[in-house]
Amino acid sequence: MSEGVEKKIWLSSYPKEVPHSIDYPIVSLAQLLIDTATEFPENDAIFFMGKRIKYKSLLEQTYQFAHALKSMGVKKGDRVAIMLPNSPQAVISYYGTLMIGATVVQTNPLYTERELEHQMVDSGAETIITLDLLYPKVAKVKPLSSLKNIIVTSIKDYLPFPKNILYPLSLIKDKQYIKIPKTEGVFKYSSLLKIQPKTSIQVEVDPREDIALLQYTGGTTGLSKGVILTHYNLVTNAVQASYWMYRSEKGKERFLGVLPLFHVFGMTIVMNLSIYRAASMILVPRFKVEDVLELIQKERPTFFPGAPTMYIALINHPEIDEYDLSSLEACISGSAPLPLEVQEKFEKITGARIVEGYGLTEASPVTHCNPIWDKRKNGSIGLPWPDTLAKVVDPATGEEIEQGQIGELVVKSPTVMKGYWNRPEETNEVLQDGWLLTGDMATVDDEGYFYIVDRKKDMIIAGGYNIYPRDVEEVLFEHPAVQEAVVVGIPDPYRGETVKAFIVLKEGIEVTEKELDDFCRTHLAAYKVPRLYEFRTELPKTLVGKVLRRALLEEEKEKGKVG
Ligand code: AMP
Repeated sequence: MSEGVEKKIWLSSYPKEVPHSIDYPIVSLAQLLIDTATEFPENDAIFFMGKRIKYKSLLEQTYQFAHALKSMGVKKGDRVAIMLPNSPQAVISYYGTLMIGATVVQTNPLYTERELEHQMVDSGAETIITLDLLYPKVAKVKPLSSLKNIIVTSIKDYLPFPKNILYPLSLIKDKQYIKIPKTEGVFKYSSLLKIQPKTSIQVEVDPREDIALLQYTGGTTGLSKGVILTHYNLVTNAVQASYWMYRSEKGKERFLGVLPLFHVFGMTIVMNLSIYRAASMILVPRFKVEDVLELIQKERPTFFPGAPTMYIALINHPEIDEYDLSSLEACISGSAPLPLEVQEKFEKITGARIVEGYGLTEASPVTHCNPIWDKRKNGSIGLPWPDTLAKVVDPATGEEIEQGQIGELVVKSPTVMKGYWNRPEETNEVLQDGWLLTGDMATVDDEGYFYIVDRKKDMIIAGGYNIYPRDVEEVLFEHPAVQEAVVVGIPDPYRGETVKAFIVLKEGIEVTEKELDDFCRTHLAAYKVPRLYEFRTELPKTLVGKVLRRALLEEEKEKGKVG
C-alpha cells in the first residue's frame, strides 16, 4: 500500500523496512568500484566468454586505464566516448573515465557514421575508446568532429576467439583482421595499459554537480539529445535498486549482463548495481538465444534484467525445456511493456520471478517497479521507487487529474537529470519545478500501482477516437499464432489516421488476416480494430529490443503508401 504525500501524488512505501529518505552515499560513481574491490577483492567481478576477472584485478586495470587517459591529457570535465559491446573493456573504460572526473559519452557500436558524427560533434568528445572492427567507421568521423584520440581495443585483448562469435556478421566485411595504423592520435588499448601503474588515482568530484554521463536518447529519426546525469543521479538509482531487490548481504549474486551496457538500463541495473552489490557480471556481447540459454545453464546467474523481446525469444525457443535454467531467481523487465502471456510462460519454465519495471534515460533510468518479493500487479509498472514522487496530470494544463483517469506521468526523484546538453529550451519543456514530464500516458490505481497506457506521441487518433497501440497489441498477443505485434497509426483520408498491425507469426503456425480480424473484433471496440495487416519475419528493433515504431512509419512513407 502506498500513501499519498499530498492528494494524488504518490510515494512508494515499499520496501517496508526502508524509510522514504535513504541515506545515499555522496560519492563519485567510481567510488562504488573502489569500495567493493576493497571489501571483496577476491570475488569474481566479470565472467566473459570463459574468462574470470576478480574485483582486485578489475580495479587495478581501471586505475591503469585512468592513468593512461591522464597521460594523454584528458582532464576533469572532458568528454570521453565509449563505443564498445559488452566486454571487460567496456566496464574498465567507463569507471576509468569517471575516476579522473571526465564525462562518459556512451555510443552504440551499431551507429552509422552519420549518427556517430552527430553524437561526437554534439558532445564535443575528444577521446573515444572503440573496437578494432569499428575503427574504420570512427576514423572517418574523426576529421568531421572534435575527436583527437582513438583508443583501439580488440577482443584479442581479452580472448583469442574468432570474431564472428562475438559480433554481428554485418559488422565484419571481409573477416580479415583490421590493421590499425600507427599514426598520431591512435593508441592501442593493451599497450597503453601495460605501461601504466596499478596505483590509485582519483580526481575530486562534486557528485551532485559534476557530470558523469552524457547519455543520448531519442532520435530514431530526429537528432538525439544528450541527457546530463550526475554521479549522484546514477549512484542513487543503483542504491534504490539494491534496496528494492535485496535484503541479503552483498557479494552473493550473479547478474546476467545481456542488456547492452551502453544503454542506460543495462548500465545502471546490470553494471552499476552489480558493482555496488559486489556481484558477478556475466557479460554477453550479443543476444543469441542458444548462447544465452547455454550460458544460463553453465554460469548459473541468479538475476536477469532484460527487455520483453529477450524473454519472448527465449520462451519461443523450441528446445528451451532441455536447458537447466533453475539458477534464475529474479528478472526485471523494462524498456517496453511486458505481455502477460510472456510473463506467465517465462515463470513457468524457469521458476524465476519476473516483474515489470519502468524508466527513462532522463531518470537514470528506473522510477517504478513491481515488488519482486511482494504484491505485484499484472500489466502494471508497479510502485514508484523509494524517494520517487509520481503523479498523473492533464497534459494540456499540467493539473493533477482524478485518480483512475489517463494522463501524463510526471515524476520527481534524486535520479532525475540536470537537463539536456546544450538544449535549454527542450530542457524547460520537460523539467518543470523539479518534476520530469515523461511523455508517457498512464493511470494509477488506489493502491499507487501505475499503468503505462502508451507514449503520448504514439497515440493514434482515428475518426476522432484516441487509440493506444498497446491496447490493440495486448489483444493480438493473446492470439495463439502471434509471436510479436506492433500497431501504428498511418494517415487515412477519412479517419485522419487508421490502425495498421505488423505481425510476426510463431514458427510453423499460419493465420489469415480474416482470422486475426475476427479475433480482434471479439476483444476490441470496432474503432480500435486494425484495418491493415502486414506479416513480417522480424521487426526493426533497438539493441534493447524496443520495436522502432518510427522506423516502420518511415518505411511506410518510403513505399509511397502514406504521406
Ligand atoms: P529510454 O529513455 O530509451 O530508456 O526510453 C524510455 C521510454 O521507454 C519510456 O518513456 C517509455 O515510453 C518506455 N518504457 C520503458 N519501460 C516501459 C514499460 N515497462 N512499459 C511501457 N513502456 C516503457
